[in-house]
Amino acid sequence: MSFSSRVKEELIPRPLDRRCCVLAETAALTQATGTLGFLGAGRLSVTWRMENAALARRVFRLLKEGIGLRPQLHFVEHARLGGRRTCVLTVDGEDAETLLVALRMAEREPDGQVRLKHTSPRPALNKDCCRRAYLRGAFLGCGSINEPEKSYRLECAATDAGLAQSVQRVLAHGGIEGKVFERRGHWVAYIHRAQDLADALAMMGASRAVMELENLRITKQMRSDANRASNCDEGNSEKQITSAHRQIDAIKLVSIHRGLFTLSPVLQETARLRLEHPEVTLEELGQLMEPPVGRSAVHHRLKRLEQIAGEIEASWEKENAPGSE
Ligand SMILES: [Zn+2]
Repeated sequence: MSFSSRVKEELIPRPLDRRCCVLAETAALTQATGTLGFLGAGRLSVTWRMENAALARRVFRLLKEGIGLRPQLHFVEHARLGGRRTCVLTVDGEDAETLLVALRMAEREPDGQVRLKHTSPRPALNKDCCRRAYLRGAFLGCGSINEPEKSYRLECAATDAGLAQSVQRVLAHGGIEGKVFERRGHWVAYIHRAQDLADALAMMGASRAVMELENLRITKQMRSDANRASNCDEGNSEKQITSAHRQIDAIKLVSIHRGLFTLSPVLQETARLRLEHPEVTLEELGQLMEPPVGRSAVHHRLKRLEQIAGEIEASWEKENAPGSE
């Protein structure tokens, strides 16, 4: 199974969030996979199409349990195209009106009539919880991730330009630089740095995937460390190399057992820079930080990381101690 599918498999069974987030996730999924239908005589419908049956069931739950609608779910078999199955969900009539008002595409007039204002959802993304839910919905609906062994890239591609723009905005809130471009009638929002990918996954709540990614980055790093060690720079004292190894072991332990995303931003930055630059001195490491800091601040942060690793180890010893049950 691809990394992308594993992330989706992790996210799809998540319990539904609060109503504000249910609406944000539904808005993204509607922008990614939905179409607005005009049935005549002012009647409207919304239809979602997707190949992933598990995702279709999630959309069904969002609409039914989350918003209180009565969606219909059908499966359409394609005789050709290798017999692929498309899942189709629909709401119409009053339910379509309720949904369009909830997604801020329509307004209810004082006489009870619903008037369409926009042909695409206008998600409210001013809360952190809703931004996370929106990103998750966008990724589930139209996102993909490259195999991280090859490159670090996540993209969401939809015909609705609003989705790519909203994804970019949501990412920017998390300090992630997303880019947008057009490709054959689709608007694509993407990120392409390891750090940004890990942060975006953490933002969506895919903590298992973050852990997998961190482990992979560490393995890659260890391979290049081994290469570097074989043509080791004589400028590094043995003592310096030993403490760098100790720091890296501590960071790996925290990463594997808790995930670096659980650390404060300052410690995350320190941990990641140390993993990326295992050979540099503390002064040089400090210069790589944003903003740059001095040697003693770097020393202090690395000590704190070792301390956290120590706490994790101590908690295992406690669990495994005889008589602790
Ligand atoms: Zn929310």
